[in-house]
Amino acid sequence: MDYSATTPVDPRVAEKMIPYLCEKFGNPASNSHIYGWEAEKAVEEARSHVAALINADAREIVWTSGATEANNLAIKGAAQFYKTKGRHIITVKTEHKSVLDTFRELEREGFEATYLDPQENGLITLEQLEKAIRPDTILVSVMMVNNEIGVIQPVDEIAELCRSKGVIFHCDAAQAAGKMEIDLQKTKVDLMTLTAHKICGPKGIGALFVRRRPRIRLEAQMHGGGHERGMRSGTLATHQIVGMGEAYRIAREEMKEEVARIKVLAKRLADGLGQIEAVVFNGDMEHRIPHNLNVSFNYVEGESLMMAMKGLAVSSGSACTSASLEPSYVLRALGRSDELAHSSIRFTIGRFTTEKEVDFAIDLVKTQVAKLRELSPLWEM
Ligand code: PLP
Repeated sequence: MDYSATTPVDPRVAEKMIPYLCEKFGNPASNSHIYGWEAEKAVEEARSHVAALINADAREIVWTSGATEANNLAIKGAAQFYKTKGRHIITVKTEHKSVLDTFRELEREGFEATYLDPQENGLITLEQLEKAIRPDTILVSVMMVNNEIGVIQPVDEIAELCRSKGVIFHCDAAQAAGKMEIDLQKTKVDLMTLTAHKICGPKGIGALFVRRRPRIRLEAQMHGGGHERGMRSGTLATHQIVGMGEAYRIAREEMKEEVARIKVLAKRLADGLGQIEAVVFNGDMEHRIPHNLNVSFNYVEGESLMMAMKGLAVSSGSACTSASLEPSYVLRALGRSDELAHSSIRFTIGRFTTEKEVDFAIDLVKTQVAKLRELSPLWEM
């Protein structure tokens, strides 16, 4: 139940990737023989599948090693390219570390950053953003779906606002692609981050959508042979790219049914855990993807709960920060107390999660929370 950390590769994806390791091993940049042509064709087909899921043009897709690199390329690339227009950039305190740390790096380079506080439900408001935009603002970065609490930011409206102000809008959709509809013909996002491994594709491959009309320019972060129209040099990882293409093709075909199935499981999970006394669900309960349920168990210490539930793969905070004992910065930004942030567990479900697994999780959590509370001096119910 930790699908937001990563997912198993769909066997259909793995099958599609394998020939590109041994038989069809060519370099897509080799344009003088069949090996290269074959690899290039596969890369371009995958590019079309990725573009199709978000209703973009294949020429707007730039391959990267994942969402971390795509976020770095989008934010640093745009800020550095447009720095003569202004040096102010805006994001939100609940963004993924790959966005926040990139902003910190730009601050060291002399940019000025504003970090917006979300409301208690995890969402930002348009008024808040509008107030923060200044004449020298060049870039806004707001994620589509939050990785810890699953809430969906009002991206359509943010995009409209940014476009009307002439500010570039980057959106990290690592947790959104394949889980909700994205239509970039309608939504005026300029740069969008994508990754494969959150939707049953392989790890180590992602992409950045870079809008062509109006054309967005980026300063390259990886210099070399000029691959990907100069935006990201390096020999393309054909097998990974083929895997991402197939994962996105499947997502486009099956997303509707899959989300309907996951909604049923999510309701079962929320109903089951909701029966436990003194639980708090984190993040807006309406504007969210059903794949995520983030719950704080009052009067229980999160680490002890994690230890007591060894048979269950869940995470406390996001996978990237769960090695530290700091309370989740996302929950702290919503105004949760340290205790409540510490006692939170993120349950995330996906393609291969079963009803039986959901019931197992509910039973285990119920039993262990009750046991831990019995030991807690603060629990007097
Ligand atoms: N952005 C978000 C919202 C994420 O959830 C993740 C994954 O944890 C990333 C970026 C980083 O993705 P990747 O592992 O592809 O670098």
